Amino acid sequence: MKSICNEAPACCPNACEPFDVEYWSLVRADQDPDLKDAALGGELNLVRCPQCGTYFHHNGELIYFDSSAELLIFVFAKDTQTKQASLRKRMERDYQIIKNTLLKQLEMDYPPILVFGLDELQERLHHLEEMAAESEVVAASCAAQGFSIVRLKPSYAREHHFPLYVPVLSSHPTANDYAVAASKVLKSGLKSTLLLNFKDMMSQEGAELPKIA
Ligand SMILES: [Zn+2]
Repeated sequence: MKSICNEAPACCPNACEPFDVEYWSLVRADQDPDLKDAALGGELNLVRCPQCGTYFHHNGELIYFDSSAELLIFVFAKDTQTKQASLRKRMERDYQIIKNTLLKQLEMDYPPILVFGLDELQERLHHLEEMAAESEVVAASCAAQGFSIVRLKPSYAREHHFPLYVPVLSSHPTANDYAVAASKVLKSGLKSTLLLNFKDMMSQEGAELPKIA
């Protein structure tokens, strides 16, 4: 499953004559960093009307996939939000096909995400970049204080608002050991909502062990 570029007519918001454009309908962000950057910068599927010169996003559907980040996003056209229920059903069906045939070897065990429009995709990706940046700071702080680091399963970390990396003290830590290590790193003055959240969850009675990548 590689990135796919399609050709389709585009309709300018100023009601000019429709014209043919090439647009990406499948983005393998893990294989094509340029496309990931374009999605983050809002340039993905950005087209220019040859008649009036207006720039706009082609409204075609798109699948954004990043295997290492465990991220599968279905981007539907912005003006189809009213059909959310039926689109969600279609997404679930397509997800099963991707999971069980096209990408069977990846053993995907995380749910797809549905968004409307490339603006919303951009927003999501920005949020994830911020989370990744904060995780790097957490990892650096842990290392600076002599802690070993484990990488959490990305989809699990995202779902629970945890950092992608957390500190560990021993080789077979309990949930509480994770909480203690996180607490020590936080006491050093590190400001991280993600790590604080992780510490709080791990120190709860009966907390389950985190999912490691
Ligand atoms: Zn136009």
